[in-house]
This record gives sequence, C-alpha cells and structure tokens, in this order.
Amino acid sequence: MNIWGMSLAELQALVRQYDAPAYRGRQVYDYLYRRGVHTFADMMQLPQALREQLAATQRIDFPTIVSEQLSADKRTAKVLLRYADDALVESVLMHYNYGYSVCVSTQVGCAVGCRFCASGQNGLIRNLTAAEMLAQVYAFQFLRDMRIHSFVLMGSGEPLQNYDEVLRFMRRCADPEGLNLSYRNMTLSTSGIVPGIYRLAEEQLPITLALSLHAPNDTIRNELMPISRQYPLAEVMAAVRHYRERTKRRVTCEYVLIREVNDRPEHARELAALLRHMRCHVNLIPLNENPTVPLQRPEAARIETFLQILTGEGIPATVRKEMGREIQAACGQLKMKFLAKQRPI
Ligand code: SAH
Ligand code: SF4
Repeated sequence: MNIWGMSLAELQALVRQYDAPAYRGRQVYDYLYRRGVHTFADMMQLPQALREQLAATQRIDFPTIVSEQLSADKRTAKVLLRYADDALVESVLMHYNYGYSVCVSTQVGCAVGCRFCASGQNGLIRNLTAAEMLAQVYAFQFLRDMRIHSFVLMGSGEPLQNYDEVLRFMRRCADPEGLNLSYRNMTLSTSGIVPGIYRLAEEQLPITLALSLHAPNDTIRNELMPISRQYPLAEVMAAVRHYRERTKRRVTCEYVLIREVNDRPEHARELAALLRHMRCHVNLIPLNENPTVPLQRPEAARIETFLQILTGEGIPATVRKEMGREIQAACGQLKMKFLAKQRPI
C-alpha cells in the first residue's frame, strides 16, 4: 500500500500493525512531510526491523521531480512531476506579496475540452488522487524550503469531475498537523459543473469558488466550452447563486478575453447585466495564446475598454496579472503528456 498522503492518525494506526508504539507513526510523519525523506531505509530514527518491515510491505509514492523551471523575475516556478505510473503532471508556484501560492492540477488532462485550453486537448487521461495533489504542494516545500500560503485548483483538470479526491486533498491541506492552510486560502475553479456546485455548497467550507464563465451568453459559451451545452448559463448561474446564499461566500468569475469572440463592448455590457445581482468579482484573463489553437488575445486597449465598461456598470473587475508566461506556466498552458519517454529530461 502507498503511505504518501496518509494523515498522522493513519500513520499511527499503521505502525500499530507492526507492534510499534504510536510515536513511531509521528516519526514516519515527520520524515514524510517535514524532512522530505521518501525511502524507508533513510528513516534512521526507526528501528531497523521496523524499517525493513515497512519497506517489505508498504510503498511511498512520492513523484519524481523531473524538472523545475524558474521565470526570469523568479516569481514563478514550474515543476514537472512523474508519478508511479509514469503520468506527468505540472504544477506552478507563484510568489505574491502575501506569500507563496501553488496552482494545483487535479487531473491528468481534462474531459471538458474548452477550445482555448491546452490541458484538455487530449481529453482526460486519469484523475489524480488526493495524495498526488498533495505531492504537488509539497514538491515546492521540499525544493525551496518555504511555507505555502495558498493554492488555486487552476492547473489541468476539472476539480468537480474528481470531487471526492479534491475534497480529501483540501481537508489534508487544512490539517493542523500538516500544512495547516486556511480554507479561505483555497480556491476551487470550475467550468460550471452544476451538480458539483450544489454538492460543494453543502460541505460548508469557507473556500473561494471561482466560476469559469468566459461568455455573457449561451451562444458564445457553447462555442468555447462544450460543457455549456450540458449545463446552460441559466442553470450555472442559479447554482452559483445557491452556493453564495448557502455559504455566504463571494464567488469569483473568470473571463478569458479572446479577440473578436467575447471581447466587444456589447459583450461587456451583456456580462454586466448577467452579473448585476450576483455581487461577484470578475477576473479578466487575456488569453494565453497557444500555437495549436487559432485564437488570439485582444489588444491592450480593447481589454481596458472591457474593464472600464464592467466597472462603470458597478461590477468589480480586475485584469489578472500575468505570471510565468515565458515558462509556459500561465493559466491554460499546462499541457500533460502521458508518455514520459516523449519528454526530454
Ligand atoms: N477546469 C477548471 C480549473 C482549471 S482551468 C476551470 O476551467 O475553471 C483554470 C483557469 O484557466 C480557467 O478559468 C480556465 O478557463 C483558464 N484558462 C484555460 N486556458 C486558458 C488560456 N489559454 N488562457 C487563459 N486562461 C486559460
Ligand atoms: Fe478543463 Fe478547465 Fe481547461 Fe476547460 S479550462 S479544458 S475545464 S482545465
């Protein structure tokens, strides 16, 4: 069995199976999560017999850190991780004024298939487990010996299509024995999976929900996001309203600006009308261009006009600060390849 990802209580229960006292579980915990030791043989504080028994019966599936890239301004880093089955996943670390934030991937690939996004181009390969998501956060802790302040589930994958593991991951991050992250510093971004939004509302977790809206009406949204045919805007907005009322948490809307597709002044006005009573903040994201997709970002003046219209209509909005573009670490650029052999190391 794999023990990476286990909580302190689970590790204490585990060592009991080997007739070891509970404090041995704490030692294993410290090795795994504080010291970054991921082979039993190196857990020198454990009696040799226990080390050998553990090694014979358990695994530590911490992914290999295949590469790390750092942006020129050193504010963004990207790691490529290889999991036990050779699946490759990228995650990104951003350094903001308030601290370090990790952009976590929740799936290898993505089934939603938004036209502008690199992550979903080859469909869904598989879900990631909570332990595998946790490893993305810890990879940066171990590499840089830093304290992580927050994370956004904005890497590859649709978190609400991997619901149970994503929830388990968030709970592990909140564990006071571990990362001790505040739920308020966790953001779950979704393309609008309606049943998932209703389910999440019942969890009563003070996380931030971000809705990937990207269009002011169903016609444009259907064109950009195939999932929209299944969950039309009216249903998505009703789910978000319910979420807000149930949790009393403000929802963020993300809107990728694409030249001549959704960036015209009339789109901004239509968006303002759609969001008038939602009290949500709009994050405008100029498209990160991808050579395989024939879509472009708008010119700067167009972005500015869009922003002015929204704020003029009383909708709080900002243009997202871009980070990590030159290391292909910006939103929607994380492209997963399944075969490790295809990638230079
Ligand atoms: N699947 C979830 C979360 C991951 S995507 C979702 O779609 O919300 C995280 C964010 O990156 C989403 O808002 C997504 O629309 C955005 N994104 C995807 N491709 C992009 C691109 N090429 N340029 C800018 N943002 C992009
Ligand atoms: Fe999946 Fe989000 Fe990319 Fe759409 S934008 S394909 S939902 S990861």
